[in-house]
Amino acid sequence: MIIGLDDTDSKEGMCTTYLAAVLIEKLKAFGKIEGYPLLVRLNPNIIYKTRGNAALAIPIELNRSGEAGTVRKIVIDLVEEMAEFSAENTNPGVVFIENATGDMKKDLARFSMRAVQDVLEISEAEELLSRYGINHMGFKNKRGLIGALAAAGFALTGLPDHTFELIAYREKKRWGTPRAIDEDSVWEAAAQADTWDTVDYENRRIVFAPHSPDPILFGIRGKSVSAVRRAFSFVKSEPVERHIVYMTNQNTDMHLMKAKISDVLDCRSYILEGNVSKSPKTIEGGHVIFEIGDGAAAIECAAFEPTKSFRGIIRQLRPGDQVTVYGSVKDGTLNLEKIRIRSLDFHEMRNPLCCGKRMKSVGRGQGYRCEKCGATAKEQVDETIKRNISTGFYEVPPSARRHLSKPLVRFL
Ligand code: ATP
Repeated sequence: MIIGLDDTDSKEGMCTTYLAAVLIEKLKAFGKIEGYPLLVRLNPNIIYKTRGNAALAIPIELNRSGEAGTVRKIVIDLVEEMAEFSAENTNPGVVFIENATGDMKKDLARFSMRAVQDVLEISEAEELLSRYGINHMGFKNKRGLIGALAAAGFALTGLPDHTFELIAYREKKRWGTPRAIDEDSVWEAAAQADTWDTVDYENRRIVFAPHSPDPILFGIRGKSVSAVRRAFSFVKSEPVERHIVYMTNQNTDMHLMKAKISDVLDCRSYILEGNVSKSPKTIEGGHVIFEIGDGAAAIECAAFEPTKSFRGIIRQLRPGDQVTVYGSVKDGTLNLEKIRIRSLDFHEMRNPLCCGKRMKSVGRGQGYRCEKCGATAKEQVDETIKRNISTGFYEVPPSARRHLSKPLVRFL
């Protein structure tokens, strides 16, 4: 059986991963988890999300198939007990995949991928659930069925790329209070191989613990189960109530689609190629905006203030530079997660030099004149300029990284 869960939390508390962790404990008596529970991040641009648009799937091999009904009841009872039903935007969904056919696998693989890259309707999830007779339970407006089915779909068909996250949870009596974590131990944990985003070295910040009132104490992300477990063994903190290792699509760039600028839609995420067509400018709030074009269409790209020193790279771009940008599109602007500068333009048309100074334009289309000696010139000259950046890949710092974004360490 694969149990899919989503949308049980609100900004004021809870977290669907915690519900899954409690459930895993309860289900031990009924069977064995097959592989790892899945923590799936869906489209990061969905307006209904509470925080990181997470959905969960628990694949379990039941000891006795006759107990499937009991297991389904335990799951639904726990959701009813723990979900934040009073929050307007909390619409829990639970699905149970028990028998999967080839057609169902094909349809679910497509649905799950679209839940990460596209915007779905609740009716699309309901249609698949009824077509394949999948047991499920949707609460309130049933929106959670989208995420629950998508997560279960990935557990059934497999993730094309994955990483791991070990999440440690807090004792209930401490929820909502400041987290007690020994900072030095976190820096030691962060130094362990094949883990990332525990700290932000450049901004000297610990980034593996949230500040919200939810049950999560911290999360350690990494390449393998052994890597995250090893880093975990270094962390000294308040008591950990329980911890779970999830297999996840975090840090895989699964949300990004290669596209042409003219095909871009809002609320989706892309990899786009183009030339810088308008110089970067810093706007109020410290955000840096520039434009790229590919001859057919153009799009504004933004490095927002929280991306800190990444903006320094972006400010160095000039029209003519060839780039590949990675990020989500919102209100027609691509919110940069990474950039690959493919080539830099070292040429600039400038007014000719004379008597140690630049000539002045006489008027539109009328050439240039030296203010000192009166010499004239018809055209600007092509000069080679110095650039303060190099070609290559640049990314936002860990403190500004989205869950799905693949860090450059994973490209090596
Ligand atoms: P947290 O990260 O704290 O667990 P969350 O950010 O995961 O919270 P949810 O409470 O799960 O947010 O709310 C997201 C809602 O959006 C869910 O109901 C989910 O089914 C739905 N959803 C997820 N992906 C899509 C999508 N691609 N299209 C439409 N709806 C989606």
